[in-house]
Amino acid sequence: MNKFYITTAIDYTNDVIHIGHAYQKILADSLARYHRLLGDQTHFLTGTDEYGQKNEKSAKSRGIDPQEFVDEISAKDKKQWKNLNISYDRFIRTTDKDHKKFAQEFYLKSKAAGDIYLNKYEGLYCEGCEAYYEKKDLVNGKCPFHPSKEIQHLTEENYFFRLSKYQDWLEKYILEHPEFVWPDKKREEILSFIRGGLKDFSVSRLKKNLSWGIPVPDDPNHVIYVWFDALINYLTYGVEENCWPADVHVLGKDNQRFHAIYWPAMLKSAGYQLPKTILVHDFYSLGGQRISKSLGNVILPSDLTKKYTTDGVRYFFLRYGPLTNDVDITWEKLKEVYNADLANGLGNLVARVAKLAEKVDLHLEPRTYNLEPEVISHLNGFRVDLALEFIWQKITAADALIDSNEPWKLEGEKLTEFLQKIIPQICQIAYNLQPFLPETAQKIQQQFSGKIKSGDPLFPRIS
Ligand SMILES: [Zn+2]
Repeated sequence: MNKFYITTAIDYTNDVIHIGHAYQKILADSLARYHRLLGDQTHFLTGTDEYGQKNEKSAKSRGIDPQEFVDEISAKDKKQWKNLNISYDRFIRTTDKDHKKFAQEFYLKSKAAGDIYLNKYEGLYCEGCEAYYEKKDLVNGKCPFHPSKEIQHLTEENYFFRLSKYQDWLEKYILEHPEFVWPDKKREEILSFIRGGLKDFSVSRLKKNLSWGIPVPDDPNHVIYVWFDALINYLTYGVEENCWPADVHVLGKDNQRFHAIYWPAMLKSAGYQLPKTILVHDFYSLGGQRISKSLGNVILPSDLTKKYTTDGVRYFFLRYGPLTNDVDITWEKLKEVYNADLANGLGNLVARVAKLAEKVDLHLEPRTYNLEPEVISHLNGFRVDLALEFIWQKITAADALIDSNEPWKLEGEKLTEFLQKIIPQICQIAYNLQPFLPETAQKIQQQFSGKIKSGDPLFPRIS
């Protein structure tokens, strides 16, 4: 049996996730469901990143303990993922006991390899990213991801990781493993960043400046800082479940440098295998605006699923989401797509055929379905959008077959004959839909087994 281990980035618990975080989880979920369907032993990990200054500050502003604060946010995030039918196998929290212990062990392994040393740090720091920046990386003197936040100037004693030591090795590795960063243009960005020179990065903060963190195991004055905590979540679970190395890390482009540069070097240092692929997706904006709390355009996945159904939202993002390019979306477009592709397209096709089938006493031989080769090939290349495009071509073709045969004029044996041709096509479409629209696929499969009856519309039209 093949093993397939897929992860998403873990979300900061300084606030509840919003629709901007949803694309990545739906994308990873459909790939996980695909591999389960193939019969692979699949492990799907997501979770929350719970330490750090932002969380500590947010808790303080609410007058509660950081642990209480992150418990609350983490539970709310989970509810949102449930709403989108995200089928993770474990929801890891960086405050989980096993992760804390594992992060400390990892730190000591890297230190034993001679890759961690104490030094003074002076630099520009973005609190939003919890990362240091160089002047050249800033846009108008501000963090490219947090243009509304002031960049801070920090000086303190930190432990550092010897990233510079891994520069040549990493460049060679990525050149020899073109599958390591997907898509190609992100690999090029990573390579050019590596060639610009890799600098050691800090892996601890002084406890007096940041108390909400995992203690550095051999120095009580420090806590482990961001990357030597957060990234390790993948390994905590992977080692426990015996499924390391990960097959795919799914993440947004704001995280690509940390996953494609810091992470492989850290793993190499501590003596672990590297993940197979870092899948980097782009971002989407909303009516031309970045999605951000300060712009007031943040909305929860549950707000959307209430109106457009879980599978309606999944479909829209998987088909038109920012897989390989930034995209701009509008809620008008979501409505348009919902009505055209789901209410009229898939929903109408299923309703038409069920209605015809009601008219006759139909006995269909049970058949086994498999994913079509086109779907498999698109999904092996991570192209969920193209897989759905292919399935929708099949829907259009089935509609055309109905129109040209005018089965509503047929009766008895002639109608049965036509239905025996069209129903397997519907069942094949439903089978192909499973990784993407799991509830809908199941509904169609149930409707077309046994005595076929008209049901409620799969996707009621929205006006
Ligand atoms: Zn930032």
